[in-house]
Amino acid sequence: MCEEKSKSDILKEKLFMKKEHTAVIIGENGLNDADSFAEGYMNYLDASKTEREAVEQALLLAKAGGFTEFNKNTRYPTGSKVYVNNRGKSLILAVIGHKDIREGVRIAAAHVDAPRLDLKPNPLYEESEMAYFKTHYYGGIKKYQWTAIPLALHGVIVKKDGEKVRVNIGDKDDEPKFVITDLLPHLAANQMRSTMAEGIKGETLNILIGSRPFDNTSAAESVKLNIMNILFEKYGVIEEDFLSAELEAVPAFSACDIGFDRSLIGAYGHDDRVCAYPALMAILDCEDPDYTSVTVLTDKEETGSEGNTGLDSKYLEYFIWDLAEIYGTDGREVLSNSKCLSADVNAAYDPNFPEVYERRNTCFINNGVCITKYTGSRGKGGTSDASAEFMGEIRSLLDTEGICWQTGELGKVDEGGGGTVAKYIAHLNVDVVDLGVPVLSMHAPFEVVSKTDVYMAYRAFLAFFSK
Ligand code: MN
Ligand code: MN
Repeated sequence: MCEEKSKSDILKEKLFMKKEHTAVIIGENGLNDADSFAEGYMNYLDASKTEREAVEQALLLAKAGGFTEFNKNTRYPTGSKVYVNNRGKSLILAVIGHKDIREGVRIAAAHVDAPRLDLKPNPLYEESEMAYFKTHYYGGIKKYQWTAIPLALHGVIVKKDGEKVRVNIGDKDDEPKFVITDLLPHLAANQMRSTMAEGIKGETLNILIGSRPFDNTSAAESVKLNIMNILFEKYGVIEEDFLSAELEAVPAFSACDIGFDRSLIGAYGHDDRVCAYPALMAILDCEDPDYTSVTVLTDKEETGSEGNTGLDSKYLEYFIWDLAEIYGTDGREVLSNSKCLSADVNAAYDPNFPEVYERRNTCFINNGVCITKYTGSRGKGGTSDASAEFMGEIRSLLDTEGICWQTGELGKVDEGGGGTVAKYIAHLNVDVVDLGVPVLSMHAPFEVVSKTDVYMAYRAFLAFFSK
């Protein structure tokens, strides 16, 4: 028997917004595409634990894809692929489009730095016959999450003679790892009564790095000496060299599948490499775009975008001005006609903590890439708030291309808040909106995303560039 749809069902279908699991929309073939895209992403993650490594890996892929270093004295023909490497910590990749540059460019801007523990300038000490590194945390972390997990050490040490030594230790199975110890529960009565913000203090985030004395002697500071001697033999550095180093302690886990159905990815640093990688792949796969298309992988977002490798710096503006000059126009005109997807993550609804979300305006895992009209906190403080016109344009593009998407705010009104690079792009008089992947456990040492959402982010950036 065939049941007739009621008048109200038909009207609902016509008028109401639908929310659907991406798998229902894309089916088996779409899921296979998402799963294979995730493999490339997970490889990228494992090779990119820091902003420097994320830029280096992106550059390797870009060079293999035909990108060459940008020269502001070259008039590039349509289809040319160029890059600007800003100090090895941020990267601009561009494909020259058919249209007059005056009509503006299309930008996807993601960040490649992630919350972590930086070593202090004078980090090494010995206490109770154990050696430690002192740290200063970078970005918004819950400090207690960084104790009792294996850590790796990545970064560079610049010696007095200018030689740059690369450090990358703790990720491979046969390499030693490092750890911040925590208090045993038996003696943690006071700690357990304190707030989660105070249970582990910044100055207790000291990394255990060794415990044997040099030459098996009991002289003062022999454990420290033994460590310094190992570092001298391995890297050729002395204690003073720490003063000119950037060493980052990061979780020593690899990216892995989560769930019996392998639908999710658990990893360190999804925020924001989960948008950086799709934006990178989109520019690599972007052939002959109408508009000149640009992917920016930036540094320093997690500390507020200040610094010359963050987007509060003028490096992106300078590039657009140089590009404009090549084609005989001025940067102001190009920027004012440009459009940008600020590619950053949003907080996925977590049923374990329903109280902080407003379900009708929150993004969900597996519901597609999330458009965030505004970020900020309180009365929309500190946000650029995308215009209805630009939202309309992006919405129509995603629907036309069959890309699964949703919108979301970062939690309930007055519950907290956050920001992205969008406002720094808006500062250049560019139309901009946030678009990115929903994340569970954001800013934890091990974050979770869905493979379908990552794939939809890639398709969104590619559609934006190819338009
Ligand atoms: Mn982010
Ligand atoms: Mn973040």
